[in-house]
Amino acid sequence: MYRAYRIAVLPGDGIGPEVVDVAVKVLDVVQRVTKGLNLSFFYGEAGYNCIEKYGTNLPQKTIDLLRETHACLKGPMTTPEEPDAPPSVAVTIRKIFNLYANIRPCKSLPNVWAIKPNIDLVIVRENTEGLYSGKEFEVSSDKGIALRIITSEASERIARFALKLAEKRRKYVTCVHKRNILRVTDGIFRDAVFRAAREFPSVHVDEDHIDAMAMRLIKEPEKFDVIVTTNLFGDILSDEAAQITGGIGLAAGANIGDNYGMFEPVHGSAPKHAGKNRANPIATVLSAKMMMEYLGENEAAKLIEEAVMEVLSEGKARTYDLGGNSTTQDVGNALIEKILQKK
Ligand code: NAD
Repeated sequence: MYRAYRIAVLPGDGIGPEVVDVAVKVLDVVQRVTKGLNLSFFYGEAGYNCIEKYGTNLPQKTIDLLRETHACLKGPMTTPEEPDAPPSVAVTIRKIFNLYANIRPCKSLPNVWAIKPNIDLVIVRENTEGLYSGKEFEVSSDKGIALRIITSEASERIARFALKLAEKRRKYVTCVHKRNILRVTDGIFRDAVFRAAREFPSVHVDEDHIDAMAMRLIKEPEKFDVIVTTNLFGDILSDEAAQITGGIGLAAGANIGDNYGMFEPVHGSAPKHAGKNRANPIATVLSAKMMMEYLGENEAAKLIEEAVMEVLSEGKARTYDLGGNSTTQDVGNALIEKILQKK
């Protein structure tokens, strides 16, 4: 059966264009070897590089392009930090398309250092509210207020997403919050998760405070299956989780809503490595793999995953962050070779 998908590609800033280029080449080879799969790529401008030209980091024509596609592969983008600068592109796209679930898998990989050999967990982060609602006020020159918005509706929605995911995995969800201090907002979040859990009797749900969780991720990460938490806690925990399984150059991410998905590495634009052909492309390639799963193209996703595992196991093509001296393109070529060998 013929299956055609329109994919928006936003290369982004810094190392973004280099790692996205590898991921697109990998997808292109995967579609050539997967019967019936047809991917069309549509490139859009977004990021810091757009601000001077368009006065925004996300031009309207790029938003229109996203609306005409099935999913988006997004490179990392440099976020300006001045108070009046445009907000992060990722945050804006998540809001426009209501991509409420941020999914960040964390797994021990072959021949890659990890704090424990048998880690296999997924962080499910609420993506639309919390401290990322962007509502901050300067009360006076030395006093600022940020609003942490938490609703039952968004909390139950993310809880259901995590619970459904856990049903397909090891049936265990850990709800992470700080209700002992943030009694109102995290009280709402925590109660919503346990309320939703009643609909999923096969899933065991327990809870932990964010500070204890940060410690347990180092001490006993192999015990966790699905971790569900609020926006900022999830952002911080997922960088920690990336580090305990080989680093940020391998950590993939998905932003999923009811009608659209955006896939991007967890890492940022790493400006100091930009243009040097040395960044690790695997985080972006694994994000592309998650995009194939989202589209229901499980055979294509499996091809990508197996190629990554084989290249890592062999240990010949490795970028500097994994102790090697291969280039971004070397790793891409090794992945492509593996995929072609399978067909
Ligand atoms: P970063 O992730 O860009 O880089 C931190 C360090 O991690 C780098 O110096 C590098 O040593 C390493 N690293 C990151 N990606 C790597 C890769 N693929 N291969 C090898 N090593 C890699 O974080 P930062 O320096 O805090 O942020 C840089 C910019 O990126 C900022 O403007 C930030 O706002 C932005 N950012 C964007 C996103 C996004 O677009 N979703 C996410 C995080 C940060």
